[in-house]
Amino acid sequence: MGILVIGSMALDTVETPFGKLEEGLGGSATHFSVSASYYTPVSIVAIVGDDFPQKHISFLQQRNIDVSGIQRVPGKTFRWAGKYDYDLNNAQTLKTELNVFEAFKPEVSVAQAKPDFLFLANIDPVLQKNVIGQVKRPKLIALDTMNFWIQGKRDALVEVMKEIDLITINEGEARLLTKQSNLLKAARQIREMGPKTIVIKQGEYGALLFHEHHIFSAPGLPLEDVKDPTGAGDSFAGGFMGYLAKVGEVNIDTLKQAVIYGSVMASYNVEAFSCERLKNLTEEDIRNRYKAFRSLSQFESSY
Ligand code: AMP
Repeated sequence: MGILVIGSMALDTVETPFGKLEEGLGGSATHFSVSASYYTPVSIVAIVGDDFPQKHISFLQQRNIDVSGIQRVPGKTFRWAGKYDYDLNNAQTLKTELNVFEAFKPEVSVAQAKPDFLFLANIDPVLQKNVIGQVKRPKLIALDTMNFWIQGKRDALVEVMKEIDLITINEGEARLLTKQSNLLKAARQIREMGPKTIVIKQGEYGALLFHEHHIFSAPGLPLEDVKDPTGAGDSFAGGFMGYLAKVGEVNIDTLKQAVIYGSVMASYNVEAFSCERLKNLTEEDIRNRYKAFRSLSQFESSY
């Protein structure tokens, strides 16, 4: 099996200077799995309420995502509302309603219990840890989180971080977690907390990878048409993990390429609200943008 992901499935209300989305398809597990589905089979563990539109589940199925681990229970689906100003790098959270997530007990089925790769998408770290306990040790466990959990469930987050191999985190969250403004020092401190590989996302400016003694920097692709950055981090993680799962090997060379595939998927995601832009990408779209990333920072060396 490819990737097992646990994370949020949400109805998002998002306002940016370029438009508004009311209760659209969102959630960390959703954005992640749609993105990763371009590379590898994905299976979701999550929960939705009885108000969650069936058409969203059908869309995930059309992308060949295994939805058998999504529990549908009486109650309201998780809801998040956020706003961005002209600086699209920072979301302002207006509302976080956990709803059915408050009583969620993840259940990993026998068929899902031996994933090659496990992604603990942004959700309560207690749930993230619970899922680790239900699977046979995968090749790689990666985790994402956000300020809401860093501030609200720090101890649980520190606990689960001891068990993971890799973390994707944005620069503001890395600083919040470590209380370090310098990213090199922050990455070092995060490594001491557990994960030996760290990806620091820098919004429109790209991403930094720290692995063993290597540091790799991917640029942000200058884009003309950015509408909504929501889900960029999860789409990044989807392309990143999807590529690693596809090649099946984790080393500095595959990690560097994974950062670029992650950046490709994030760059498409921000061009429209919700998952709209990631609905129908072609292999050619992915290839073209991969090449654009490559040429952006390639230059002749005189040394
Ligand atoms: P990002 O990739 O960081 O932009 O993540 C965006 C997604 O995270 C949105 O679709 C939200 O539904 C989801 N989200 C926001 N807050 C939380 C939270 N506290 N826990 C889990 N998911 C969240």
